[in-house]
Amino acid sequence: MNAPVTALEASLLDRSADFPILSQAVRGKRLAYLDNGATTQKPSVVIDALTEFYEHSNANIHRGVHWLSQHATDRYEEGREQVRRLLNAPKAKDIIFTRGTTESINLVAQTWGLQLKAGDEILVTDMEHHSNIVPWQLLCERTGAVLRHAKVLDDGELDVADFRSQLNEHTRLVGLAHVSNALGTVNPVADLVRMAHAAGALVLVDGAQAVAHAKVDVQALDCDFYAFSGHKIYGPTGIGALYVRSAILADLPPWQGGGDMIRTVSFEHSTWASGPQRFEAGTANIAGAVVLGVAIDYVLGVGLDRIAAHEAVLLNEATERMQALPGVRIIGTAPHKAGILSFLVDDIHPHDLGTILDTEGVAIRAGHHCAMPLMTRFGIPGTARASFALYNDSRDVDALVAGVQKAQKLFGVSR
Ligand code: PLP
Repeated sequence: MNAPVTALEASLLDRSADFPILSQAVRGKRLAYLDNGATTQKPSVVIDALTEFYEHSNANIHRGVHWLSQHATDRYEEGREQVRRLLNAPKAKDIIFTRGTTESINLVAQTWGLQLKAGDEILVTDMEHHSNIVPWQLLCERTGAVLRHAKVLDDGELDVADFRSQLNEHTRLVGLAHVSNALGTVNPVADLVRMAHAAGALVLVDGAQAVAHAKVDVQALDCDFYAFSGHKIYGPTGIGALYVRSAILADLPPWQGGGDMIRTVSFEHSTWASGPQRFEAGTANIAGAVVLGVAIDYVLGVGLDRIAAHEAVLLNEATERMQALPGVRIIGTAPHKAGILSFLVDDIHPHDLGTILDTEGVAIRAGHHCAMPLMTRFGIPGTARASFALYNDSRDVDALVAGVQKAQKLFGVSR
């Protein structure tokens, strides 16, 4: 995560050739797409792969005897192998395809989680996305378990001392963002996993904001579950994955019932498929899984170390230039950050700021970023957030800074 900051490559790629959407003008201006934390744009190889799949490979998987079905199955399983490669999971069978991070976390809560009982504890942090809070709240309501949360320091770092003090013999699971979507903080996951394991708890890592921005190695992290979404790593919406440590996956009860997840069915008793298929009931997002594999191959081809270094330079540049503007307050200044810049400008509401930036072709996110407890912790309703991807460059930072200055002028707060 802490890639060395090297000289900024003007751009890692031919932005308009690789990402057609970026060459269109928005409101008559060059598009500066800085909403990558919400979703990334798709490269041509990904867009084309979707058409190519439907033109040449489409069939239902796992149950066909004909060539096309076997071909589609092979391609679906190739997608799983690409996810394994991305996460450095030991085996492709450790990867379950889901709709994304949210569904991955709900899957764990509604399978592994059902063994919890009154008095058991789940520990999350104050910087979690709602999707790493609410599934645990629902589980606590069902089981009588208790949800606890570790504090965040003023600069946006996790309060590790508080985290450690909240671990105890009742803690069964820790849910932790690898990278905070609202602050950009990179958590010291391997250290936190060690602490949680020492207390006897399993760890689920929410990797939604991590996988597209730096190398992830679930074996080095030693986490038990790792969740991410395809659309945040240049892949399609509606597909994502969950890594589960194989010893845990072997004992997980099924989740949704239906076709594809069974071995035998009778009215008296049914038995379940082994491995990830047990959690992939019904016709899966076959094209999504195939194309996610293509997106991962693209990202690994560019190189996650290069991407991390490129985004680190952009984040530094944006941070320095925004900090230099009077009236700008950056929320989240942890020493270890990924390419996310959350900020407030004077007393301009983030939504107003977002609207003014939009008139300049600058796409940012404004609001609570699905992290309301974190906003409460900082005593603010929300922030404006610029988030970087491999196709951003200094012109995007120029447009962001100029847009903020324009907003200050319009609101009469420029100095
Ligand atoms: N976790 C984090 C840290 C996120 O940033 C997001 C989305 O923004 C999610 C979870 C939810 O991802 P999805 O909506 O793709 O399931």
